[in-house]
Formats: sequence, structure tokens, C-alpha cells
Amino acid sequence: MREASTRQRVFVLGLDGATFTLLKPWAAVGKLPNFKRVLDGGAHGILKSTLPPLTPPGWTSAITGVNPGKHNIYSFFKPMRRAYRRRVYNARDIKAPKLWEILGASGKRSIILHLPLTYPVDPLNGLMVAGMMTPVGAAHYTYPRELADELRRVIADYRLNVDTTYARAGRLNTLLKECLEVTDIHCRETLYLMERKPWDLFFAMLHTPDLVMHMFWKFMEPRHPFYPGPNEFQDAILQCYRRVDVLLGEILERLDESSHLLILSDHGFEMTRKNVFITNWLVHSGYLVLRRARRLAFKRALFKAGIQRERLVKHLEAWRLAWVPKLFPESIKNQVPRSRPSFQNIEDHIDWTRTRAYFPSAGGSAIYLNVKGREPLGIVHPDGEYAALRDEIIERLGELKDPETGRPVIGAIHKREDVYWGEYLDHAPDIMLLPASGYFLNEGLGDEVISRAGGGKVERSGNHHMDGVVMLYGPCVRSGVEIQGARIIDVTPTILYLLGLPVPDYMDGRVLTEALVPDYIERVPVTYTAARFEASTTSGFEYTEEERMSLEERLKDLGYM
Ligand SMILES: [Zn+2]
Repeated sequence: MREASTRQRVFVLGLDGATFTLLKPWAAVGKLPNFKRVLDGGAHGILKSTLPPLTPPGWTSAITGVNPGKHNIYSFFKPMRRAYRRRVYNARDIKAPKLWEILGASGKRSIILHLPLTYPVDPLNGLMVAGMMTPVGAAHYTYPRELADELRRVIADYRLNVDTTYARAGRLNTLLKECLEVTDIHCRETLYLMERKPWDLFFAMLHTPDLVMHMFWKFMEPRHPFYPGPNEFQDAILQCYRRVDVLLGEILERLDESSHLLILSDHGFEMTRKNVFITNWLVHSGYLVLRRARRLAFKRALFKAGIQRERLVKHLEAWRLAWVPKLFPESIKNQVPRSRPSFQNIEDHIDWTRTRAYFPSAGGSAIYLNVKGREPLGIVHPDGEYAALRDEIIERLGELKDPETGRPVIGAIHKREDVYWGEYLDHAPDIMLLPASGYFLNEGLGDEVISRAGGGKVERSGNHHMDGVVMLYGPCVRSGVEIQGARIIDVTPTILYLLGLPVPDYMDGRVLTEALVPDYIERVPVTYTAARFEASTTSGFEYTEEERMSLEERLKDLGYM
């Protein structure tokens, strides 16, 4: 074991959605030799995600060390004043100081690649390439700006994101090829920058494992209701993990002996057997009232008859009539529902003067009450009525059972103040939901409350789980130990400690000392500071209308709205 030195560096590999339920068995049978090396030679454990276990709150908690009540990010969408329609979050909505800002204030350099919610890119001491929620075609997505030119020059076919329109069109072959290609490109980028640029913290994030697990889980899992039998996508997820394993090997080769490696995911993953359509449940239970509109009846009838936008486009393509949809204005196209009905599909049809609760997005896993003075047409009184209604919904939803099994479909229901704390608590949803294992909480359009999931080509058969992963490896890390009780808010304090810096005392997380060699902790105790670090910018930012629409299309392709 080496002495702490100012040359100590930390390399962080972020794997969106990575889960031990796949990693460990594959590592054990020799399919992921480099992960096996890290598991055997280091410390690891389940990393509890945020509620909901979702990319924006998850990664934001990982890079700030605080809970969503302090950083302000609860899902992909921020509630807007005087509007029910939500806007996608951007980097400037994060209210807590970010890891690289804290490091920058101590003169340490960071290289940050593809973390979600890093657009627009603000200056930092180091380099940054923006990640998820960067608009397609954005002109400036790196710091410094010239970095983008350099990357395009040295890395063939360089690109930021997977083209998710393949998911929309159900072109799974092309989608998988694209996912593996983008993984390779980001691996080459990581190794290139790791070798050539100076850094104290290197934080590289790969989003593709998440996308591949959403789309291909049922092809791997014979217990899934829509497992098609032996098939060409059987190993799609393994292929993706193996690419990451190769990258991990290359990283390990390049790390010097005094450096540490931390691998984490923002949430885990599991098979989804069934959808629970919360919007439909709210309608059935009388909390959400739809206007009797002919347009809505038409939409629901189309949906029931199986006429959906994705299928229509596919058939037109097959008939070589792909140009037909382009002739129609958006307003007409919107009359044909998507295969996964979203809140947007029904929002215009809600009678807000009689609606007391609503469920605005699939990924958000949360119910909002239609509160007087807060929502534009709110009817629920903030005193008394709010508390009583919330208790009633929590009780009734807790009783919602799957008729096939007789067991509850919601795993946990929380009031916001029971799971979050901090100055942005009042932006939080009123009720937070966590589905029971195997269920996905969806929006809805129609009568069904519970139905089988993952049937169509574009419907997801895998979804997020609270149990993410954390792995630590390096000179001060105990080897071969499994740690308990790690949370995603513990990541930033642990990185700060490994870099020889004090932990700001406003942080909710703690240093994962049980993963570290006791002698070392004794000699170099954890220290705290009362210093506040100001975010690098306070000015707001909004995407243009066009950017917002392209981001929303992407989120629809990914199944988050
Ligand atoms: Zn995901």
C-alpha cells in the first residue's frame, strides 16, 4: 500500500443501469474477465439509487453528494409555473455544486465525459463532453469548444448519441449495431483523452448498457412472457457488457499504482413482465376526469384497434410510402396514438376543473395533486384536503393487486417529505411510487390498468431497479470484500476523500470507509469543511422550441414519456 500523495488520481467509470444480477454470473463464468479482476481484487456492493431510480436524479446525486431535495432534479421533466406541460431539465437546473466545480476550486483538473444534464456546457478546470439531454445537432457540446473538432478528427464516425429513431421504428438489428458502435466510439474517446490530457479526476460515462437492457431483455430471458425462443438477440446485452469489459481492461492497464478506480451505475435493472397504467387507475378511481371529447374517443378507438403511429409508419415504409406521413401536419399526426400512450396524448383532454391527481410521466414514477394556487387550474386545497387526499390515494393504491397473482403491484409508496429533504423539496412530486418487482409504472390511454409488457418490438421488456452497483479498486481499497448499505449520494464524498480533499458538511452522503484499508483511514482520517461552493453559473437556460421537441422525441423513443 502506498502513502497518500498529491499525485493520487481517481478514474470513475459510470455505467448507466449496470446490475450485479447480470455482472456477477457473467464474471463468475469467465465472460467478463476484467470485471472479475475488479470484483476479486477490490470492494463492491449494491449502490442504492434515488427514488425514482432514474438517470437524471441518479447521476445528479452521484456528482453532488446530495438528495434530490437539495439538487432539484426529480425526473426528466421540471414542473412549470402556470402550466401542466413539463419542460425537460438542463444543466443549469441543478442547484447543488458539482464534483468538478469543487475540485476546480482546489486546483484539480477533471475530464467529464457524457454525463447527463451537462448541457449547456459551462467552463471548468479541465475538459467536458456533454451527455444525455444534449440536443441533436447542438453546435457546442464540449469545453473547450475546440475539443469537439479534435475528437471528430481523431475518432472515426465520432458522435454523441445513439440514433434512437431505430428504436421507434422497431429496427432492432440496426439499433443493436448502432449501440455497439457508439459504445466503441466512446471507449476510444476515453482511452485517447486518458492518455493525452492531464487529469486528477476522469469521469467517463456509457449510456448504452441502459438502452440495450431496455430493448433486449426479453430476448435473453426465457422466463419473460414474450421470450421468442432461441433468437439472434439472445446475447445482445452480453455483447454490450463485453465491450465495456474490454474497455475496463484497457483502463486498468493505463492506471498507475497510486490511482483508484470507481465503477458505478445510477440504478440497477430487471425484467419487466407487466405494465401498471397509473393514469388509467386514476381515471377509474375518480381522481382524474377526462372530458367527453370526440377526438379522445377517436384516439382511444384507434389505440384499441391496434392502429398506432409506429406501426402505421412501418406499414407505409413497407409499401414504400414513407413520404406520406410527411404530408400531414403535426396536429393530425398527433391524433394517431403512439404504441406507448403518454401523458401528452391525453393531457389536452383532461378536465382540470374536476381532476384531483395526475401522473405526468412514465419514468418519473410520481403522482402530483392538482393543488389550488400551485397548478394553473388547481382544485385541491393546500390545507386539510391535500393531506387527506394524499393519504387516501396512498391507501387505495397500496391495495391495487394483480388479479393473476393476488399480490400488490406497487412495492412502496412515499410522501415526498419522507424521502427528500432540502430547500427544493417544494418542487418534488407529492407522492413517490416504486413498482413491485417485474412491474413498470406507465401512463395510459384506455381501460386497462394492468397488462403484460414487452410484447411489441418497440415496447421495453427491461426497466430500472433500485439496486445499482459500486466497485472500488486501488491501493487503499480492501480486496475481495462486499460492502453493505452504500447509497448513490456516497459517491462524491468518497471520490473527494480519495483525492485528498475534505467533504463539505452540507452533503448528505458519507465516505465509504468500510471499502478502504483500516490502516489508511487511521492515518488519513476523513475531514469535513463548512465551505460552500457556488455553482459556476446562476443564469438560467431554456432549450429552443425545436431543441425541446427533438429531446422529447428522443425521450419518447427511450420510453420515458
Ligand atoms: Zn433507463
